[in-house]
Amino acid sequence: MKKIEHIGIAVKDLEQSKELFAKLFGKSAYKQETVESEGVTTSFFEVGPNKIELLVATNPESPIAKFIEKKGEGIHHIAFEVTDIVSEVARLKNEGFVVLNETPKKGADHKIIVFLHPKSTNGVLIELCQEIK
Ligand code: ZN
Repeated sequence: MKKIEHIGIAVKDLEQSKELFAKLFGKSAYKQETVESEGVTTSFFEVGPNKIELLVATNPESPIAKFIEKKGEGIHHIAFEVTDIVSEVARLKNEGFVVLNETPKKGADHKIIVFLHPKSTNGVLIELCQEIK
Protein backbone atom coordinates (compact mmCIF):
# COMPACT_ATOMS: atom_id res chain seq x y z
CA MET A 1 0.00 0.00 0.00
CA LYS A 2 1.27 3.44 -0.87
CA LYS A 3 -0.51 5.87 1.41
CA ILE A 4 -3.83 6.88 2.88
CA GLU A 5 -5.74 8.18 -0.13
CA HIS A 6 -8.66 9.59 1.80
CA ILE A 7 -10.87 9.19 4.86
CA GLY A 8 -14.59 8.71 4.26
CA ILE A 9 -17.15 10.27 6.60
CA ALA A 10 -20.83 9.28 6.52
CA VAL A 11 -23.22 12.21 6.87
CA LYS A 12 -26.99 12.66 6.89
CA ASP A 13 -27.20 15.99 5.13
CA LEU A 14 -24.52 16.65 2.54
CA GLU A 15 -25.26 20.36 2.06
CA GLN A 16 -25.08 21.02 5.79
CA SER A 17 -21.93 18.96 6.22
CA LYS A 18 -20.25 20.57 3.23
CA GLU A 19 -20.74 23.94 4.88
CA LEU A 20 -19.49 22.64 8.21
CA PHE A 21 -16.33 21.08 6.78
CA ALA A 22 -15.69 24.10 4.55
CA LYS A 23 -15.63 26.17 7.76
CA LEU A 24 -13.38 23.64 9.45
CA PHE A 25 -10.87 23.45 6.60
CA GLY A 26 -11.16 27.05 5.44
CA LYS A 27 -12.02 25.99 1.91
CA SER A 28 -14.80 24.46 -0.12
CA ALA A 29 -15.15 20.96 -1.52
CA TYR A 30 -13.40 20.68 -4.89
CA LYS A 31 -15.68 18.09 -6.39
CA GLN A 32 -18.96 16.27 -5.97
CA GLU A 33 -19.97 13.04 -7.60
CA THR A 34 -22.83 10.56 -7.41
CA VAL A 35 -22.05 6.86 -7.77
CA GLU A 36 -25.52 5.49 -8.35
CA SER A 37 -24.38 1.84 -8.26
CA GLU A 38 -23.16 2.43 -4.69
CA GLY A 39 -26.11 4.56 -3.61
CA VAL A 40 -23.90 7.49 -2.61
CA THR A 41 -23.15 11.07 -3.39
CA THR A 42 -19.65 12.10 -2.39
CA SER A 43 -17.97 15.43 -1.83
CA PHE A 44 -14.19 15.73 -1.68
CA PHE A 45 -12.09 18.20 0.25
CA GLU A 46 -8.38 18.62 -0.08
CA VAL A 47 -6.49 19.27 3.13
CA GLY A 48 -2.81 19.63 2.37
CA PRO A 49 -1.75 16.33 0.81
CA ASN A 50 -4.83 14.56 2.21
CA LYS A 51 -8.42 14.14 1.16
CA ILE A 52 -11.63 13.87 3.10
CA GLU A 53 -14.67 12.32 1.41
CA LEU A 54 -18.14 13.10 2.71
CA LEU A 55 -20.70 10.42 1.84
CA VAL A 56 -24.45 10.74 1.84
CA ALA A 57 -26.98 8.02 0.93
CA THR A 58 -28.98 8.50 -2.28
CA ASN A 59 -31.57 5.91 -1.23
CA PRO A 60 -32.70 4.07 1.93
CA GLU A 61 -31.02 0.83 0.79
CA SER A 62 -27.64 2.51 0.48
CA PRO A 63 -24.81 1.09 2.61
CA ILE A 64 -24.36 4.62 3.95
CA ALA A 65 -27.99 4.78 5.10
CA LYS A 66 -27.54 1.44 6.86
CA PHE A 67 -24.28 2.54 8.43
CA ILE A 68 -25.85 5.71 9.85
CA GLU A 69 -28.84 3.74 11.09
CA LYS A 70 -26.53 1.43 13.03
CA LYS A 71 -23.73 3.70 14.14
CA GLY A 72 -24.76 7.26 13.44
CA GLU A 73 -22.72 9.76 11.47
CA GLY A 74 -18.96 9.55 11.58
CA ILE A 75 -15.86 7.97 10.08
CA HIS A 76 -17.02 5.30 7.64
CA HIS A 77 -13.83 4.06 6.01
CA ILE A 78 -10.14 4.65 5.43
CA ALA A 79 -8.97 4.36 1.84
CA PHE A 80 -5.47 3.29 0.88
CA GLU A 81 -3.96 3.85 -2.51
CA VAL A 82 -2.45 0.82 -4.21
CA THR A 83 -0.65 0.48 -7.53
CA ASP A 84 -2.00 -2.95 -8.48
CA ILE A 85 -5.34 -3.63 -6.83
CA VAL A 86 -5.66 -7.17 -8.21
CA SER A 87 -2.35 -8.39 -6.80
CA GLU A 88 -2.97 -6.50 -3.55
CA VAL A 89 -6.35 -8.24 -3.13
CA ALA A 90 -4.70 -11.60 -3.78
CA ARG A 91 -1.99 -10.82 -1.22
CA LEU A 92 -4.50 -9.74 1.44
CA LYS A 93 -6.76 -12.75 0.85
CA ASN A 94 -3.73 -14.92 1.29
CA GLU A 95 -3.08 -13.17 4.61
CA GLY A 96 -6.60 -14.08 5.73
CA PHE A 97 -8.43 -10.79 5.23
CA VAL A 98 -12.05 -10.97 4.13
CA VAL A 99 -12.62 -9.18 0.84
CA LEU A 100 -16.13 -7.77 0.29
CA ASN A 101 -15.92 -7.49 -3.50
CA GLU A 102 -13.18 -9.45 -5.21
CA THR A 103 -13.74 -7.82 -8.54
CA PRO A 104 -12.80 -4.15 -8.25
CA LYS A 105 -15.77 -1.85 -8.79
CA LYS A 106 -15.99 1.70 -9.98
CA GLY A 107 -15.74 4.24 -7.19
CA ALA A 108 -15.76 8.02 -7.11
CA ASP A 109 -12.84 10.19 -8.19
CA HIS A 110 -11.60 8.03 -11.12
CA LYS A 111 -10.84 5.01 -8.99
CA ILE A 112 -11.50 1.32 -8.96
CA ILE A 113 -12.09 0.11 -5.43
CA VAL A 114 -12.27 -2.98 -3.23
CA PHE A 115 -13.49 -3.09 0.36
CA LEU A 116 -12.22 -5.35 3.12
CA HIS A 117 -14.75 -6.59 5.65
CA PRO A 118 -14.39 -4.73 8.96
CA LYS A 119 -14.71 -8.06 10.78
CA SER A 120 -11.23 -8.92 9.58
CA THR A 121 -9.72 -5.48 10.26
CA ASN A 122 -10.59 -4.67 13.88
CA GLY A 123 -13.86 -3.03 12.94
CA VAL A 124 -12.39 -0.60 10.42
CA LEU A 125 -13.81 -0.65 6.91
CA ILE A 126 -10.79 -0.49 4.60
CA GLU A 127 -11.05 0.64 0.99
CA LEU A 128 -8.29 -0.12 -1.49
CA CYS A 129 -8.25 2.20 -4.45
CA GLN A 130 -6.34 2.39 -7.66
CA GLU A 131 -6.42 5.34 -10.00
CA ILE A 132 -7.92 4.61 -13.43
CA LYS A 133 -5.39 5.80 -15.92
ZN1 ZN B 1 -13.81 6.27 -0.20
